Amino acid sequence: MTQIQPQPGILDIALYKGGASKIDGQDTVLKLSSNENPVGPSPKAIEAMAAEAAAMHRYPSTDHAELRGSIGEIHGLNPDRIICGVGSDEIITFLCQAYAGPGDEVLYTEHGFGMYKISALSVGATPVVAAERNRVVDVDLILEKVTDKTRLVFFANPANPTGTMIDMDEVARLADGLPESCLLILDGAYAEFVDGFDGGASLVDTRENVVMTRTFSKIYGLGGLRVGWGYAQRPIIDVLNRIRGPFNLSNMALAGATAAVRDQEFVEECRRINADERARLAGGLAQMGYPSDESHTNFILVRFADEATALAADAHLKASGIIPRLVAGYGFPNALRITVGTKPDVTLVLDVMSRFEAK
Ligand SMILES: *Cc1c(COP(=O)(O)O)cnc(C)c1O
Repeated sequence: MTQIQPQPGILDIALYKGGASKIDGQDTVLKLSSNENPVGPSPKAIEAMAAEAAAMHRYPSTDHAELRGSIGEIHGLNPDRIICGVGSDEIITFLCQAYAGPGDEVLYTEHGFGMYKISALSVGATPVVAAERNRVVDVDLILEKVTDKTRLVFFANPANPTGTMIDMDEVARLADGLPESCLLILDGAYAEFVDGFDGGASLVDTRENVVMTRTFSKIYGLGGLRVGWGYAQRPIIDVLNRIRGPFNLSNMALAGATAAVRDQEFVEECRRINADERARLAGGLAQMGYPSDESHTNFILVRFADEATALAADAHLKASGIIPRLVAGYGFPNALRITVGTKPDVTLVLDVMSRFEAK
């Protein structure tokens, strides 16, 4: 067996831990650990997926033309410059496979999303971490870490698990400050929660070194369907399509995502509910003495006095069936990330937290 060894980097990968979904001894729980849409998917998406079930003997489209066309139409983007993947995770993986390998560096920030590191290691590249400034991505701190080996720079705007975001002027300054051999990937998983924000699409249009990723897992409420997409200039899309499996998205995934993106009324409603309930959740907890930064997403990162208090608050919430996300692994042992729920969900969280007594 000792002769059989995986490629360099692979044994350094720590398995990704999703948000918990169960509490021992509790039949019903309120899962606020994975930034899922508490409303669920659009009824139109559910209908489209159900209708597709009878066609499962057919292989799916290999070029995703209908889904790309719909995304292009809704977002005002050229469908030829869109690629669809099994979640945006798969787009992140394609980017690492295509543009990084042993000896190359993949850069992301201190509190960045866990998949950047996993994908970098999976191709044998070296992960490099730039610091953030007070839980906010900082362009200068990123640029300080760029070397002639840097191939990819990843960050989410707005970011997870901080919920913070930076101005597009700053993002443009980062894109312009990178060496020509380096791609900037703007992870727009939460872009739809920001009213009027294009996620960085306009930056992609004017630069060859910028890629935007998006997902159906968050505002669209389709995390279980696994659909995401990337937007970049043609040469990059051409490269990524060479390593994309021809049947990476199922008939069900294509039908559900196409119906979902066409139902922007639903998205609008979810954005509004989220904004209202996020303000109530953050405001209520702040009044109790648990602050959070202004969030531009569907979750808040609530800070406590210390790690013991954060763990006690986690246990207190779980005792009432509420599951927040522990984020020590993202550099926040003193905090909990709580997804914004529906109005009754938020009311429950505030009620339960009002009975929390920090030791
Ligand atoms: C949730 C999330 C994603 C989405 O991943 P999918 O594979 O599309 O489900 C991507 N990036 C960040 C930062 C996220 O929080």
